Parts: sequence; C-alpha cells; structure tokens
Amino acid sequence: MSNTTCQRRLVIIGGGVGGVAAFAAAVRFRIAHSIDIVDPAGIGRCVAFSAIDPALLCNTSVETMSILDDDPDDFLAYLYSIGVPASRDAFVPRFYVSNYLVSRHSSFATLAQSAGISHRLVQAMARRITKVPTGGYHVLLDDDTRLEASDVLVCTGNGESYVPDVVRAHVRAPRLFECLYPEERVLKQLAPRSRVLVLGSRLSAVDAALILCRAGHSVVAASPSGRLPAVRTATPRMCPIPIDTDAFTRLDLRSPTLSWRILRIVSRAARAVRGQPLSNQVAYDSEPVERLRLEVELAQRGATDWQSIIVGHMDTAERRLRDDSPAQQRTAIGEISRPVGRYLFACPVQNGEKLLEYAEQNLFRVKAATPAALYRDGAWRVQWHDGSPDAYDAVICATGFHKAYLRVSANELALDADVDADIGVEPRVSTDLRVWMVGASQAERIWTLGLASHLSSPMINAVYQIVRQAGDLCRHWRGLDELNHERLTVPAEAR
Ligand SMILES: Cc1cc2nc3c(=O)[nH]c(=O)nc-3n(C[C@H](O)[C@H](O)[C@H](O)COP(=O)(O)OP(=O)(O)OC[C@H]3O[C@@H](n4cnc5c(N)ncnc54)[C@H](O)[C@@H]3O)c2cc1C
Repeated sequence: MSNTTCQRRLVIIGGGVGGVAAFAAAVRFRIAHSIDIVDPAGIGRCVAFSAIDPALLCNTSVETMSILDDDPDDFLAYLYSIGVPASRDAFVPRFYVSNYLVSRHSSFATLAQSAGISHRLVQAMARRITKVPTGGYHVLLDDDTRLEASDVLVCTGNGESYVPDVVRAHVRAPRLFECLYPEERVLKQLAPRSRVLVLGSRLSAVDAALILCRAGHSVVAASPSGRLPAVRTATPRMCPIPIDTDAFTRLDLRSPTLSWRILRIVSRAARAVRGQPLSNQVAYDSEPVERLRLEVELAQRGATDWQSIIVGHMDTAERRLRDDSPAQQRTAIGEISRPVGRYLFACPVQNGEKLLEYAEQNLFRVKAATPAALYRDGAWRVQWHDGSPDAYDAVICATGFHKAYLRVSANELALDADVDADIGVEPRVSTDLRVWMVGASQAERIWTLGLASHLSSPMINAVYQIVRQAGDLCRHWRGLDELNHERLTVPAEAR
C-alpha cells in the first residue's frame, strides 16, 4: 500500500475498542496525514475491558474480539503471542482485551510513523467540537487546549452508569456503588462476609456475584424480572444455516405481535441447525437458579444450538431496523429484547457453573423485586414493594449505562452536559454515521462510532460490530481518496 498523500487531519475521540479499531484502519488504509487520539484514560482503559479481575470474562468468544475486520483471528494470534493458548470459541478474561488494545495501538503507531503519518495520544477529555468558519473543526479539551481537525470520529462509548431513582439520593454514601467497575475498589471497601444487594440481574450483576461470592460475601441480585442471562459455550461468527432474510424484510415493526414473530424466526433457525426443537435447547423453569442449573446442563451437553445462530440473526435484525425512525427502532428493540434479550446477552457457561456453586453455598440468590425505599442507619435498609424489609451492608447498581451524551447547536457538538452552556438538541445521525448540526444543509465531517453511534445504530453493542463500522468507514474514505487521486492525475497524464 502506498504511503499517504491524503490531507485528512483526523481526531479520534476515545481510545477504547472503537477508537483503537478506527486508528488501526486509518493507518492501514493511509487515509490521514495526522491522527490524534484523545482519551483521559489512555488506550484500552474502557469500562468493559479495564476490569483486572481474571474472573471477569468476555461474554463473547475470542473470534469476535479482533480489532481488524478482515482478520477475525488477530486477537487469537495476540493471545498466542503472549503464551495464552486459547481457542476461537473461548471466553477469556477481559483484561486481555485491554492489553491487546494497548499492544495493537503501539504497533499501528509504529506503522504510522514509518508511513509518515503523525500521531499523538492526548490524555484529556474532549468536551465539544466546534465548526471553524474557514473550514474544519476545533476539538475543545478539558485542559482548555484544542485540537484542529478536518474530520472527527466520536468513539466515546456509553455515558454514565444508570442509577435508579430510589438510589439517587444516596450517591456517594458509604458502601453504595453506582457501578461495579472498577471492581477492585468495591472489594476493598467491604468488611468480611458482607451482605450485598446488587440491583440488576444481567451480565454486570453476574460479574458482581462472581467476585463478591468468591470473597465470601453473600449476594442478592434483584431486578423486576428476576431473570438471569442464559448460558452458552461460544458465540460463533458464522451462522451454520442460511438466514431467512425475507422473514426479516416482511416484519412489520409496528405489529403488536412483533416479539412473537421474532421468536418464530429464531426458533425455526435454532431448530434448523441439527433438527432439535428450541424447546429442547432452553429451559423454562420459573425459579431463576433452577433455570440456570438446567441451562448449564444443556450447555455442558452441547445442546444449545441457538448460540450458533445468534450473531448472524442479530446482524440481520440490525440491518432491518436501519431504515426506520429512531423512535420506531427503540420500540422494536424493546420488543425484540423481551423474548431473546437473555440469549443475546448470555454469559459463559463457566460463569453459570460458578454461580450455581455459590447458590449451593447459600451465597447467591436472585429476587424478582425492586426496592420501594432505601435508607441507611448503619446498615442499608430496603423496603421492597410488597412491604417486606431487608438489611444489607452494601448496595451495588448493576443497572446499565446511559447512552453517550450528544447535543448539537448550529455550530457545535457537545459531548458532555455543561450547566453553563446552551445545551442544544440531540443530533440527527444519518445511517452513514455522520452527525448533522441544527439547520445544516449537509452532514458534518463528524462521525459517531461504536456505542456512541446509538442514534443511527441502535443495536450496536459488540466488539465485532464496532470493528466492522471502523473498517467500512476507513475503506470508504480510501475509495474516495483513490477516486480523487485519479481525477487529479488522469487528465494530466492524458495531456
Ligand atoms: C461490563 C461490560 C462487559 C462487556 N463485555 C463485552 C464482551 O465481552 N464482548 C463484547 O463484544 N462487548 C462487550 N461489552 C460491550 C463493550 O462495551 C463494547 O463492545 C466496546 O467496549 C464499546 O466500544 P466503544 O469504543 O464504543 O466504547 P469503549 O470501548 O467503552 O471506549 C470509550 C472510550 O472513550 C473514552 N471517552 C469517553 N468520553 C470521552 C471524551 N469526552 N473525551 C475523550 N475520551 C472519552 C473513554 O474513556 C473510553 O476509553 C461489554 C460492556 C460492558 C459494560
């Protein structure tokens, strides 16, 4: 590949998965002459993968964690290079992903240097992006400096952790945690054999239970559904059967029977894998720990065929949703999540096995309830909606995250809420991931990528999807650059 002749001055905001994947693609395709990455935490220090506890595993297999969209085995190769002989299907500790991001950032920075692309890592928080009247943008940082850019990629991940109303009044009180991560600070603050209430019962609640029960604490995971994630042994990329894309095209997203129709597509596909009905691949027990036990047994027997159709079907559903309005997309996702959410966000079978052990030791319990009131008098007192009381030594929110904050005015995009500023409105983000400012007649040269692209890609959540976005965008730029180059050179040659 030739060295860069391109004049793009690229600023990437965020040094997590999307930021590093975009950097790697930008360097490989030589689509910029300078690339800055801005992140106060540095590279690979994103919420998901900066967990240091080896018990906290990826919930997707090694083969979905490469940051190179055309080389799904790059993460596997990295693991081998550091002496970790994992398989493509394995669920490895999440800190390996953080180290992998650091390693690949470093090798692509070296490649950038040899290709004449200047690169800086700027450890600061980007607060807003303002349009420069003469062209381009200023990215304003929290240290009151600014970066100049012709093009900006916003890869800022999720927003703040979501704190339920009943907890909000107690934020920053002792032994009340708005979020599990970073997990080591939670462990440090708990007295031995603490009773911990975890609000939520999805993947972060499972993480909390795994590390707290291991340390001898007891955990009650409480959520309105009281449902734990399903368990699986792998998340293969390749769907072993043809996907019925027509069935997705025919879906009426406004239909009151949407979730039933989705379930029908999924169960047909799961059955097509080896002829086993979906009812033989999942468990329906209403008691969550019993259901977990049955699902762990199914996974151990290799009976969870549904896991091999999930990635392909999620991608097809995402493509189907793209044509609809954001409001319609959100409603449809709610409908899709009801029947299949716990399978989309299932946990590794190893985690299921450990949870069962802790449940048998009476250290782990699940409760289908939410607190009506919470107050502190030495212990944390909870009153449940049915009026019954409980007491805990600590409370942890595992209730998810807000979406990335994005607001636009006529000439700027704000990335964090600023009480002094005129905040503007949520931007339109077109399907090509570009941001539109208020009243503009064309899209900005500002792209959202990864979780920050939620306004145009509502189902974005997994590493492989984000990496694909980054690869597609940089390949598109490369194509445009080559076209421009031809336009400029061909007439001269013809003369
Ligand atoms: C606990 C947990 C576990 C997960 N496990 C998996 C998994 O196993 N597999 C999977 O595919 N997905 C997993 N995910 C989803 C995962 O978050 C994404 O796949 C991926 O990390 C998102 O990439 P991103 O680039 O959008 O955001 P992130 O990787 O979160 O990166 C965002 C970065 O932007 C920086 N940033 C934010 N705001 C600013 C700003 N204003 N200025 C400068 N920098 C800023 C942050 O510091 C951060 O480093 C998990 C998520 C969570 C919460």
